Amino acid sequence: MTTLIRNGTVVTASSTNPADVLVEDERISQVGPALGAPAGARIIDAAGMYVIPGGIDAHTHLDMPFGGTMSADDFETGTRAAAFGGTTSIVDFAIQGRGTRMRDALDTWWKKADGRSCIDYGLHMIVTDLANSGLEDMDDMVDEGVASFKLFMAYPNVLMVDDATIFKALSRTAKNGALICMHAENGSVIDVIIAKALAEGKTAPIYHALTRPPRAEAEAVHRAIAMAEIAGVPVYIVHLSSEDALNQVREARDRGLPAFAETCPQYLLLSIEELERPNFEGAKYVFTPPLRPKEHQPKLWDGLQHDDLQVVSTDHCPFCFADQKILGKDDFTKIPNGGPGIENRLQLIYHYGVNAGKISLNRFVEITSTTPARIFGMYPRKGEIAPGSDADLVIWDPDARYTISAQTHHMRVDYSMFEGFEVRGNARTVLSRGEIIVDNGQFLGKPGRGRYLKRAARGGAWK
Ligand SMILES: [Zn+2]
Repeated sequence: MTTLIRNGTVVTASSTNPADVLVEDERISQVGPALGAPAGARIIDAAGMYVIPGGIDAHTHLDMPFGGTMSADDFETGTRAAAFGGTTSIVDFAIQGRGTRMRDALDTWWKKADGRSCIDYGLHMIVTDLANSGLEDMDDMVDEGVASFKLFMAYPNVLMVDDATIFKALSRTAKNGALICMHAENGSVIDVIIAKALAEGKTAPIYHALTRPPRAEAEAVHRAIAMAEIAGVPVYIVHLSSEDALNQVREARDRGLPAFAETCPQYLLLSIEELERPNFEGAKYVFTPPLRPKEHQPKLWDGLQHDDLQVVSTDHCPFCFADQKILGKDDFTKIPNGGPGIENRLQLIYHYGVNAGKISLNRFVEITSTTPARIFGMYPRKGEIAPGSDADLVIWDPDARYTISAQTHHMRVDYSMFEGFEVRGNARTVLSRGEIIVDNGQFLGKPGRGRYLKRAARGGAWK
């Protein structure tokens, strides 16, 4: 199948040019002005549109167990929703159970995704235990294309690992080239604060935020970066939420360290007041790290502008309000942690970033596609519009108006964190490896067509 995308403006992380894009089978074969249409080619008219690389969401949790329930989207519903929003690749998280091998977790998550994923997907491995050949397991995972590992400095007795484990994992990546991703919050301190709050009868959703202070995030970010510096390796901070934490990353980067961090739309656009909504609705905004006071938002945008933050991902981890969030009705610590966002990332960052004049069009592409591809070992196959790259392309309509709502979204969850947000700019047509999977609000893809992405170690963003 040959496809010619004509009359559009091709936007990459580094350039904006009127150009046509020729796609042969699954890949881009030519990019240039006024390309002729080969006989029999399908033509897509992109006049008035931007042609951008498909979005890459490097942080999602589909079909994930948490606190006795499962995240509401599985690989089929979650990746279909992602596609509607212009995201054509995700990197989800497999979770090593304590006392088990990473290979078991990888097999489990491959089974979850196989036959269901509508777009290409990679996997990070969450490490909970390095006893019993854990370090060898890490090397084994890298050979399977799991080129990144996530460790938790929060959630004691569940996911948290100690500093020795973190340092061993970091040190191992000096050899195997993987990247360590850190959930950076001081979980031990937070647990003491939580116990005190509960003892005082403070059980409402707002206490989820009030028991996780920004300094607990900043302290852990500082410690993570210090340990990475001692080990002589890069580190990537996931879902950075506060100015305090950002300052730690900036300080490290100013010293030339390969420290990287992502933030998420919720931290850029929502604030702590959401957790005070009446009728327990604050629970819809319970995720970790928590929402912060409004003053943090412009600092995070500033971080994106100046490359102290490199990536926007979603941490998509939806739980329905009616029958899942409600588990924490009498105790905020029982509220499943997570919120939906996989579908709205590009819309929100384009509207509140590009339209608002905070970031350039190229920077928008960079933080939502190109840099995650580089950092996580998918570049230039993903995140680029050039001959040889996968034809993961979004025909982006900069004038399309869209109101975000649970009534119309495609995520399998009964609320939206961005209900009623009106945005201008949306994906019109979405191609994944040359196949049109979304066109004008119609889903044309198939569950199971998405392929596992074997990612390369040392993606190269720090070279
Ligand atoms: Zn997460």
